[in-house]
Amino acid sequence: MTLLLEPRRTIADLMELRALTGNENGAQRVAFTPVWVATRAWLRKKLEAIPGLEMHTDAAGNFWATLRGECGEALLIGGHMDSVPNGGWLDGCLNVLAGVEILRRLHAQYAGRPPVTVRLVDWADEEGARFGKSLFGSSACAGSLAMDEARGLKDKGGITLPDALANVGVQFQRVKDSGVELKNAAAYLELHIEQGPVLLDLDLPLGAVLGTFGVERHAITFHGQAAHSGSTPMNRRKDALLAAAKMSEEIYRIAARSGNGVCTIGSCTTKPGIVTSVVEECRITLDQRHLDSASLAAMLREAREASERFAREGNVRVAWERLWQIDPRPFHPELIALCDEAIMETCGVSHRLPSGPLHDAAEVCGAGVPTVMMFVQSLHGISHNKIEDTKEAHLEACVMAFDRLADKAIAWIHNPLRR
Ligand SMILES: [Zn+2]
Repeated sequence: MTLLLEPRRTIADLMELRALTGNENGAQRVAFTPVWVATRAWLRKKLEAIPGLEMHTDAAGNFWATLRGECGEALLIGGHMDSVPNGGWLDGCLNVLAGVEILRRLHAQYAGRPPVTVRLVDWADEEGARFGKSLFGSSACAGSLAMDEARGLKDKGGITLPDALANVGVQFQRVKDSGVELKNAAAYLELHIEQGPVLLDLDLPLGAVLGTFGVERHAITFHGQAAHSGSTPMNRRKDALLAAAKMSEEIYRIAARSGNGVCTIGSCTTKPGIVTSVVEECRITLDQRHLDSASLAAMLREAREASERFAREGNVRVAWERLWQIDPRPFHPELIALCDEAIMETCGVSHRLPSGPLHDAAEVCGAGVPTVMMFVQSLHGISHNKIEDTKEAHLEACVMAFDRLADKAIAWIHNPLRR
């Protein structure tokens, strides 16, 4: 079986794609641009070499290639060919091109008819580089896209998202019709470079992803009183910065108590912001992330309570404003176990880790399709940059392990005991 899979072919495809769609600054496959359209045509040509594949673009501009199987239930393999401007050569397209190789292998092994239907999807505009809204195609397909917000999005040149979509043959009003594609979806798999340093620091090639973090993002404003820095005794001050400053240390204790959560105060502004006045108003932003929703809620509660305590202690007021929120998306436990197995069988060692960044998989998971992701180590732990890279041996290993995972998922879908 493994003889039919040629991971080196995936590496050759990636290099060909890089030569075709990159320049000295990196990948230039920004969604809905001419380079992206040319990328899709190139992908279609690769897939046309596999006889009998059905291909179409759905109502949201996602591209699907389907290998019909003995049973109608479908294994989905996804990724995105679009990149940020000056992007890396692996982000998104490694997933798709590994999927192409798996389709080649399945087609050869089963004479064109695998036990279950296998579908490869290239999601449209995962990166959101042009309109500032990521996961466009997958969120439309999952039904979670906020239409009113998306309708008003514009790029730097003033072109609206609906106009850019019309330009590539997609009608904005109909994008959620793409949800029909998930009708028979029994499992969704996505391979991705890690984009962080966890596997690199552990010196491991591959990891099974537990899910994507939930996020709570708030602005916290402390209101005190401006007063002359010379004439106001220390015990008479209502110093908004003092309360905010206590928060900056407290979030480290909150994150530590939560287990694997992270908290960040990314900005702090003061008014009046002059050297001779006590701070009247201090606004900080807090970003909290956790894979477990109860733990995320606890982190948020603890931060609120701490802010109220510090406000009382400092004789100031505090107000909270939610900026953004998304629930954690834990992946399917049985698929995580299969992913772990596939990695162990390929590399002899595996690791389970959450994903800080969101991926299309989070949308598919949110739509109720059993989902798992596999991460491959990123050199430098860096992505969205032309220096993004992965060792060739790790690229080969990830194609092999991902192919094994596909086989295990097919057997899992086929197993009547699953339900
Ligand atoms: Zn990506």
